[in-house]
Amino acid sequence: MALFGKPKYTIVRLKKKDIPEGLWTKCEECSETLYNKTLEENLKVCPKCNYHFILTAYERVNLLIDRDSFEEYDKDMISADPLDFRGPKTYKEKLLADKEATGLKDAVISGSGLLDNKKVIIAVTDSRFIMGSMGSVVGERITRAIESATKNKLPLIIVSGSGGGARMYEGLYSLMQMSKTCAALAYHKAAKLLYVSVLTNPTMAGVMASFAGVGDIIVAEPKALIGFTGPRVIEQTIRQKLPAGFQRSEFLLEHGLIDMITCRKDLKSALSKLFDYFC
Ligand SMILES: [Zn+2]
Repeated sequence: MALFGKPKYTIVRLKKKDIPEGLWTKCEECSETLYNKTLEENLKVCPKCNYHFILTAYERVNLLIDRDSFEEYDKDMISADPLDFRGPKTYKEKLLADKEATGLKDAVISGSGLLDNKKVIIAVTDSRFIMGSMGSVVGERITRAIESATKNKLPLIIVSGSGGGARMYEGLYSLMQMSKTCAALAYHKAAKLLYVSVLTNPTMAGVMASFAGVGDIIVAEPKALIGFTGPRVIEQTIRQKLPAGFQRSEFLLEHGLIDMITCRKDLKSALSKLFDYFC
């Protein structure tokens, strides 16, 4: 293009303070600037590229459970600090900061409710609270929810949104939750009851390696990051480049780890159909 010289563009530089806060969100996948109200109306899914933004645990319950039917279990259960953990921040400080930031007491909520008029037990982890990691409160609330489903002969849904796995601040107490939740699920299975695990972005590490990975049916949202160790660590360990889309829902569906991918707007009706069919 030397003949015509360089095209002349006017560069408009916007200072950050010129953009009103809280009105717009930039899509993490396609970088489109989205009006927050439009994004909310679209269930926090980018209308341009179908990127599924993270939902809070209560937003997820509102999405799946019939209005006013959710009864929360173990609302006031809070974490102890068995190791008296001290790092850049103590565990107590971290818990307090995330409680204030999210309004949650820990990284999971659980309870019973109706899904299209069918009674179910549901637990949802929230990746905003210490990355949705599994400490003793998360493990205990999930275990009690599973036991309630077994006792009342009800199907169970656990929606995972957990970038962290075991919660290092609780050491061994945290690791124990993996076997505890899975043992409770084994009793639920022995009673011939249905457990649907819903994997959302992200579901990783100890959560994926325990209750999230053992659903009778495993449903995932599109393009969710699902796995055990993060891709960078695996690449460094095996010294090989990983295939494109590795650890994303679509790749895992193709390789048989998950059973179906369902868009957020269709998730409730898909679960409802599964319960009609299997329960
Ligand atoms: Zn997008």
